[in-house]
Amino acid sequence: MTDLTQTLLAEIAARREALVALTQGLVRIPTLNPPGRQYRELVDWLAARLQTHGWEVELIRAEGAPGDSDRWPRWNLVARIEGASPGDCVHFNGHHDVVEVGEGWTRDPFAAEIEDGRIYGRGTCDMKGGIATAIIAAEAFVAANPGFSGAIELSATADEESGGYGGVAYLAERGYFSPERVQHVIIPEPLNKDRICLGHRGVWWAEIETKGRIAHGSMPFLGDSAIRHMGAVLEEMERALFPLLAGKRTEMPVVPDGAKQSTLNINSIHGGEAEPEPGFTGFPAPCVADRCRIVIDRRFLIEEDIAEVKDEVRALMERVKAERPGFAYEIRELHEVIPTMTDRDAPVVRSTAAAIEKVLGAQPDYVVSPGTYDQKHIDRIGRLRNCIAYGPGVLDLAHQPDEWIGIDDMVDSAGVMALVLAELL
Ligand SMILES: [Zn+2]
Repeated sequence: MTDLTQTLLAEIAARREALVALTQGLVRIPTLNPPGRQYRELVDWLAARLQTHGWEVELIRAEGAPGDSDRWPRWNLVARIEGASPGDCVHFNGHHDVVEVGEGWTRDPFAAEIEDGRIYGRGTCDMKGGIATAIIAAEAFVAANPGFSGAIELSATADEESGGYGGVAYLAERGYFSPERVQHVIIPEPLNKDRICLGHRGVWWAEIETKGRIAHGSMPFLGDSAIRHMGAVLEEMERALFPLLAGKRTEMPVVPDGAKQSTLNINSIHGGEAEPEPGFTGFPAPCVADRCRIVIDRRFLIEEDIAEVKDEVRALMERVKAERPGFAYEIRELHEVIPTMTDRDAPVVRSTAAAIEKVLGAQPDYVVSPGTYDQKHIDRIGRLRNCIAYGPGVLDLAHQPDEWIGIDDMVDSAGVMALVLAELL
């Protein structure tokens, strides 16, 4: 190990307690999303902590973004440390919102208790531990290299769990991720300390409705069942669409392996009379369903074109229509994200790979996420391609009961991040 590597790792080791305290402080503010609780408390607490360590801090409310209201304001924090001379800017971005607690916990989800080298709580792994790790890495780097050139930025952003529109998307639209301001982005999502996540698959969400005609259930021949029409749609999906998707394989290193193909999930199905209120004890009324709806969640590959993805579904609907008299349908598009994958030769990828080898003594794994995360906004709105997700924590623990993060894993990842700063700045 070189002297600089040793100095950086020593600076991080000296901050182990601070890293734990920072993670615990963040976890103890339950920023549950939805609806977006205590965002302001979290950014205020973090701002005070950062300001005492030399960061310039800005708080930004995503006014008018989806979900933003006076009751549930979408608060974001951007902090910056300027170097001694001009140079590149490395930006760490972490979301500060967490998902609901859910059932099955054996511990207090917001106490951030420590046991056997792990900190437990909602958001430890996804991803307050990652935010704390990036902060400690930056502070250790600055202590070891006060004369560095360039700048380090850190953002703690809202709403990643609900699409990131009140968080990274809002900041990207205002130039916070433009290539003139920021040259390298690391998102410390929990992907395991030895893996570099280059990007994600694409998404297309749509609602499909079949139409029918209401009639008395004892004389269904007088109506037209939207549910039977939808049944034909589902049958055609089983016959033609699912096998087609299973046959499409990507060169992207998507994990887990099952997500290396195109996938489609049917998120919901509703048809006919609405579900009775809970507690209602009567019988349903006999009616032919006049409409039936499904929501589909299609995940696609970098090799696929989104127009082709949509055409497959439209063509399927047309085939069903050609065979069924009176068949009428509508497709409403809900949401789409184009796949993204950073080049393995990009500077942030190469320096992270080299740092993983130095700190962990092993080659990194390169992966692509089956689902999207905030990189989509940095790529699409910010136009910045030099972006990865890299951070401590076990991905499978995200959103689970008894979520935890390993303290040693955070320390190792902080070492990797500090070495990346030394390489890039
Ligand atoms: Zn996350």
